[in-house]
Amino acid sequence: MSRITRQQLQQWCHRELSVSQFKDYAPNGLQVEGKADIGLLVTGVTACEALIDAAIDAGADGILVHHGYFWKGEAPELTGMKGRRIRKLMQHELNLFAYHLPLDAHGEWGNNRALADRMNWRVSGPLIAGQQPAIGNIADLEQPIEAHALQLQLTEQLNHPVQWIAGGPTHIRRIGWCTGAAQDYLEHAVAQGCDAFVSGEISERTVHEAREMGIHYFAAGHHATEKGGVQRLGQAIAAEFGIQVEFIDIPNPV
Ligand SMILES: [Zn+2]
Repeated sequence: MSRITRQQLQQWCHRELSVSQFKDYAPNGLQVEGKADIGLLVTGVTACEALIDAAIDAGADGILVHHGYFWKGEAPELTGMKGRRIRKLMQHELNLFAYHLPLDAHGEWGNNRALADRMNWRVSGPLIAGQQPAIGNIADLEQPIEAHALQLQLTEQLNHPVQWIAGGPTHIRRIGWCTGAAQDYLEHAVAQGCDAFVSGEISERTVHEAREMGIHYFAAGHHATEKGGVQRLGQAIAAEFGIQVEFIDIPNPV
């Protein structure tokens, strides 16, 4: 079985994901240092305790996630839940790598691209005009689709119940999306002339905003819309280095 050093993996991800181009809310890259080399890497959406336990059971040397730790504004103390998570990682010498915005935006492996491929949307531009790198995209559909049909298609493709707030026209021609908790990007979709906007989560205000701005909104699940990125990155790492990479899904209804 192939092994690589943690630095090799860190440097490769840093370059391939263009980490230095992003201003993020959490550090991208190695967040907790473990063993010097890695033969089995577990990937997952969020570095919760259940994922750490599963990685330990699998005999992993590292975990790579989309949602890591040390978010801006978070209490810095390593106590309680946060202390337990990090203690487990350190006791088992598990490396923790986290990539947030770089993994939303990546043109091939990003969450937004993965959603587009799943739904057969051909990216025509950024959701936020002029934003580079783009976090979220828009597409003009070749076949206009009715809003209810889009809800069913999303539900089926993501295997997750999708909430639809009807606010737009009968047929959707232009669509905008941004995975995760991007419900407040709704206005950007409106500005781009979208008939519908898709993200993961929804807030109370989103309902009124969608109705009043004349756009459909679909909350397709934060977890459900963000499984694609780490899975794709994991496949790319396995192909590049020949190490074993295993995606572990910790189900999450949100
Ligand atoms: Zn997210």
